[in-house]
Amino acid sequence: MYGLLIGPATRRQAIFAGLCALAIMLTLALAAPRARDTLPAIGPFMPMCALTVFTTSGIAAFMLGARFAATRLPMLGALGGAYAFTAITVALQLLMFPGVFTRTGLLGAGPYSAAWMWVFWHAGFPALVIVAELVRSRSPDDPLQRTDPDRGLDARAWLLIVGPAVLAAALGVFVVRVDLVEPWHAPASAAAATAAAMTAATRIAPADLAAGTMGLVICALNLVAIAVVLLKGRLRLVLDWWIVVALLASLVDAALNTLSIERFTLGWYVARIFSMFAPGVLVCVLVWEVTALYRQLSEEHASLIQTSAHDALTHVYNRSYFDEQFRRSFERAARGAQPLSLVMVDVDHFKLYNDAHGHLRGDACLSAVAEALALTVRPGDFVARYGGEEFALVLPGANADEACAVAERARAAVAQLAMPTPAPAGRVTVSAGCATSGPGGAPNPAASAVHHALIAAADAALYAAKHAGRNRVARAAQD
Ligand code: GH3
Ligand code: MG
Ligand code: MG
Repeated sequence: MYGLLIGPATRRQAIFAGLCALAIMLTLALAAPRARDTLPAIGPFMPMCALTVFTTSGIAAFMLGARFAATRLPMLGALGGAYAFTAITVALQLLMFPGVFTRTGLLGAGPYSAAWMWVFWHAGFPALVIVAELVRSRSPDDPLQRTDPDRGLDARAWLLIVGPAVLAAALGVFVVRVDLVEPWHAPASAAAATAAAMTAATRIAPADLAAGTMGLVICALNLVAIAVVLLKGRLRLVLDWWIVVALLASLVDAALNTLSIERFTLGWYVARIFSMFAPGVLVCVLVWEVTALYRQLSEEHASLIQTSAHDALTHVYNRSYFDEQFRRSFERAARGAQPLSLVMVDVDHFKLYNDAHGHLRGDACLSAVAEALALTVRPGDFVARYGGEEFALVLPGANADEACAVAERARAAVAQLAMPTPAPAGRVTVSAGCATSGPGGAPNPAASAVHHALIAAADAALYAAKHAGRNRVARAAQD
């Protein structure tokens, strides 16, 4: 089972994802002209967003890794790697961010460490999605050509996830160890350096960004990644659609950061919302997939239980269900000192019916008989095909008289079907044998102690009915 994510996108799924993509682009179109409008400052907004991106990216990486382990599809591993990279870069950016945990940032952060982590985060994600798409060509969508899930996962395969995570950590070490200039432009003096550091770290995308082309490079990377996904996947799979939606969110995030200069501007806020959206959307799709798979599994399980308990031809319960449930009914009746009746029913001269009409019509006749029997019993009773043309009616709580009345109704119901047959009666009939255990039933303690004895008693009564001329009901001898 490869899951719905790797399955072809249905029309509804495509429309939904397409509407999400449209909404993202519409938001960009609306927010772009007012990107620099100042809104009320909410100090904890940035750390809250970063924490959300860290958590959702971590969950997305974990879930994609789990899907990778289950399917062995390298593309899923590489996508997991892209989100693992995002989780670690955003976590490092938050830790290094001046004024969040300490005035200058943790981990020995330099003045531009957080700004550089932002750049690596936003450039790394689309770049790693491109890697995932390149890895994809080695695993065609045809399930038959996929790697064998029974084969153990090569340790090297995990590099698809671990590699980007290690790269993100290495970049973290790099930005604190190396004396980096401001990502967008070099400051002229020490005072300017401090101001620029605050600008770089707090505004993330300063005015110089456009001039420095960093923002444009990141936007271009996102556009290239979208183009690669479209070219490679051609939006065939559910995953293709949602990766495009995530990349669009990432593109809008970068574009608004490029446009908006100040913190707490409209562009800055909207960009942060989209930075949460990019991993969030995939987590939602992955959770939706798990839920859908769970629902599918429980439906299949229920239908399997249903199928395994029923006889395929007559649709009444089958022999194995009878064996299990009859024993339980017997034990329950014995515990509650309640009577339990069993009626064994056999179609009379059925061999003649088959000989005259053929086995296919014989099958249809058996189905009709089973249906008539099933309509005779009360809720709480059940009918099972005991074998061949023999049925069992299990009647909990029914005493011997009530059981015989049910058996008589069953016999009459089958006779009323008026199915012609060369047997002496001229139509299909059944004979029935009734036996009852517990109060109002068999006085023989051996018969009520062992449920097999009740079957034997009902069987004996059935044969008595046969010998007495068929198309009749007989009670167990002990009664
Ligand atoms: P009696 O009245 O003594 O029960 O006679 P009978 O002919 O019904 O009994 P017998 O045991 O001689 O034959 C039973 C027949 O039921 C033979 C068998 O081919 C047929 N039968 C059993 N299961 C099926 C089935 O699933 N479909 C069909 N068409 N026939 C079946
Ligand atoms: Mg028969
Ligand atoms: Mg028989």
